Order: sequence, then structure tokens, then C-alpha cells
Amino acid sequence: MRTVGSLLAALLFGAPAAGQQRGIDVQHYDFLVALPDSGSVIQARAWIVFRRSPGADTIDLQLVDMSVDSVGHSQRSIAFTYDGRKIRVPLARGARTDTIVVSYHGVPRDGLIIGTNARGRRAIFADNWPERARYWLPTVDHPSDKATVAIDVSAPASWRVVANGVYDRRREVFRVDGRMNRPWVETRPIPTYTMVIGAGEFTVSTHRPAINGRDTVPIQVWTYPEDSAFADSVPFRRATEIVEVMQRLIGPFPYEKLAHVQSSTKFGGMENSSAIFYAEKPYVERKMGEGVVRHETSHQWFGDAVTERDWPDIWLSEGFATYFDGVIGAALDGDSVLANAMRANAENYFKSDVTDRPIVDSGYAADPIKLLNANSYPKGAWVLHMLHGTIGDSAFFRGLRAYYRTYRDSTATSEDFQRVMEKEAKADLGWFFHQWLYQPGYPQLDVTWQYDAGARKVVLGITQRQEPEWGLFGLPVLTLEFRGANGATVRRDITVTGGGRETSTRVDLPFTPAEVLVDPDGKLLLRVTAIGRR
Ligand SMILES: [Zn+2]
Repeated sequence: MRTVGSLLAALLFGAPAAGQQRGIDVQHYDFLVALPDSGSVIQARAWIVFRRSPGADTIDLQLVDMSVDSVGHSQRSIAFTYDGRKIRVPLARGARTDTIVVSYHGVPRDGLIIGTNARGRRAIFADNWPERARYWLPTVDHPSDKATVAIDVSAPASWRVVANGVYDRRREVFRVDGRMNRPWVETRPIPTYTMVIGAGEFTVSTHRPAINGRDTVPIQVWTYPEDSAFADSVPFRRATEIVEVMQRLIGPFPYEKLAHVQSSTKFGGMENSSAIFYAEKPYVERKMGEGVVRHETSHQWFGDAVTERDWPDIWLSEGFATYFDGVIGAALDGDSVLANAMRANAENYFKSDVTDRPIVDSGYAADPIKLLNANSYPKGAWVLHMLHGTIGDSAFFRGLRAYYRTYRDSTATSEDFQRVMEKEAKADLGWFFHQWLYQPGYPQLDVTWQYDAGARKVVLGITQRQEPEWGLFGLPVLTLEFRGANGATVRRDITVTGGGRETSTRVDLPFTPAEVLVDPDGKLLLRVTAIGRR
């Protein structure tokens, strides 16, 4: 997602994390949710289909502060305990695949936001990231347990309802009380944090579909009526082209349709699978740009289809989306878009307060909010940018395509990603991933030089000045640009080994340099702290 300023404080008081459940693997959720015409009480029922290992004798479902009316199993109601945070259901010995049904009601304290939208109309939006599905949906609420989901939403007939997947018109029900049941079905397994509904008055515009093999991917823009023309012509003008770039670079769009939805999400944008939600205010203020659309759209591949198995690997989601915002921008508008984005990413990271922590940060496993930081986003993007530079265009995109193909609709770790990229690059990249993912910080270089006119060589000394706790960095290819007084320019690549703090080397140069530039194309995440003649 994209974050907004006030977010962190608002989220820091969220529920503590609960991990994956041993021996339980949810396959499918079927939710029936009745949204109220007024007030905030929802009535709901959940069918949960799960696989269990022989040793699993209970299933725990997270559900916070709702009233649980019954839990059923094979048409019988069964005993359960509920402490306001977790429904615990004992399981009889038996089937490998099992189903339980939970009926519940209440006022969601979070996760499903019932209120008035920025245009003053009643509207209801889910906003589940990271572990807020549990405030309205009984789930194994962790990204490691993805499942398919069908959500049947009962709401006033005058409303429109959007959710993950495809709309199942055959099961739609008009009711005598002026309400309507609208069923949506997502046939691809998705994480609970991207399971959504949005309900209210919308204008829905249809953009040119993206072609996906023999199928087409419908692309829709759902907005409050006042904001429809703006949305179509500014932030979503190239919604289809953005999908096409990702399909060309990475692989087929992972879902049945793509809806871009104006909503009350507290994030700038939230990458819900096949139904991306965006903050409503930037539409109203006419300030919304395309960057957030590129970021969230690329999450459909990275984050949604391939999901981080646990929170410390969240850079697999946010670092990728941050990088692909720039990559898509470059594909549409030229390379300078990516170059500018990476410069801004470097500055954001350098000035952040997380340079003392590594990207893969197990210290925050139970606290995913804290992982919405400059390591996961801009530094994560830099890891991809540097990997791209290290192994080259062809191996980089071949690797990303293989990674997507292999882990699509599943989950992955940083090690999984490394393994795929090493295979495609035919290289051991352990040093690369170690220093950039598991070490904190970045190289800070002092560079000195001296010209030996007799030998026509420059003698270079490079000192890694960063804090000792960050460790040393190996830079197999560091480009230097030498500029002569008469305008001559020559580039030379040198190697900075990570074996010691000092590197000294000599390179041929036919003239006395007046100026030396380090990494002139900005290919590496580093800072030159001092440079000059020895
Ligand atoms: Zn994101």
C-alpha cells in the first residue's frame, strides 16, 4: 500500500499479531454479510473450508469483539469457546478436509468501516491490512494462509457493491424488502488482508480491457459520481497501459478483473486483490496522480499473487511495488522517470530513522505496522534496482518472471526469491542478498585520488566510512567518471571488496583529471562522504 502521514499513530494501537496456525490450512472462505441500512450492526455467516493435519484437534479463528451466535459442523451446532478475540473450535478426529460455519453479528470496531464518504453519502468499505480482517471476518488472519473467497453482500438495492473476483450474476437475489444480495467470487487464493467489499453509490466506468492470452481482463474505475470524470481522465487515464506493461515484463495479470475503487481506506492506496482501494480525498481535491496507481497495480503481481510468507519479508511486496512504480513510469514515459524515482528513494532512505536496521527485520515480525518504513519501501526498491544492474536486464526479468510463475497464488520468502534469481543469473548472489537484506545501512565512501603522470594512471583510495555496526559492502562494479580540464571524459570500473575497510587500486587514464565522479549513473545505493586529491 501507500501510506499517508497520520497513519502510523492511528494503527499503532491495533491488535497484537497472531501467526499461522499449525496443522490448519484454510482453503476457502464463503461469507454472507448483511450490511445495515442505518446504524453499524452487521449480521454475517462464514463457511470455512480447511485442511487439517492428523494432529490438529482444534481450529482457532480470529474474530474481535463480535457476538458469535453459533458454530456449526455438518449441520450440527458444536461447542466452542470465544474470548472476544478468538473462536476456538474443537475438531473431532476424521476428515482431512473439514468445514465449519460461524454465525455472528455486531458492530465492527475496525476492518469494516461504516460511515459517510467524502461526498457526504453513506458508504461501507473494508480495510483489512495488516490484521484487521479479524474485526469483521472470522479468519486465520495471517498472510501465510491464503484462500479463495466468496463474499455475498446483502445491501440496499440502490447501492453498488464491489469485492474481489468476479460478480456471479446467476446467484444475485432481489428481495422484497428493497435489498439485494450481490455475490462475488475470487477463485484464486488471496491473503486475508486483501479480502474486501466496498458498498455505496458509485459511478462505474469501463476502460479498455487488457488482453490476457485468450481472455480479457475488464478494467473498471469505481468512483463517487462527482469524481468520475477526473478519475478517468487523470490518475486512471492509462490504467490499461499500466497493466499491459506489467504483463509484458512479468506475466499475465493474476485475477479475473481489475477494479480501481475510491474508498475510505486509511492508506493512500491499498492493493486489495483485483479491487484496489484508494483514499477518497485526493480525488475530491483533484490531487491524485498516476504514481499510486502504478504502485498498487504492480502489487497485484507482487504482494497479492506472490505474497510474503511472513511480515519481515514485506519488502517482497512494498519494495517491489515501489520499484515497479518507477519501472512502469519509465516504460511509459522514458528512463528518466526511473532515474528520478531512484534518486528520491535514496534520499528518503538516507534521511529515515531505520538505517540501523536491516530490511528483513525479524524484530518487527509481530508488529507489521512498523515495517511500513524506508527499509521496506525505498531501500527494497534499491535492492531490486541494484540486482537489475548486477545481473543485467535479461537475467533480471527472466528471474522475475520465473519467480512470479513459481510462487503465483502462493507465498514466498526472501530466500525463495534469492534462489530463483541465482538460478536465472547462473551466479551465487549470497553476498548481494546478505549485505543488502540482512545487513543494515549502506556504504559511505571517502574517495581520494592522485594522478601519476609518468605511468599515466590514477591511484585511488576508497575508505568505507559507515558505522562499524553496518558492516562492510562489496561493490564488484563501481563506476568512476574522470573529467579532464579540457572537457575529456573517461569512465573506468573498479571493484570495492567487502573484505576490508580500505580499497586501493590504479586505473589507466590518459589525462590529468580535474574532477572525479563516483557512480555517475546512480546505480548503487551509496553516499560519497568525501572526495578529493590525496
Ligand atoms: Zn504498497
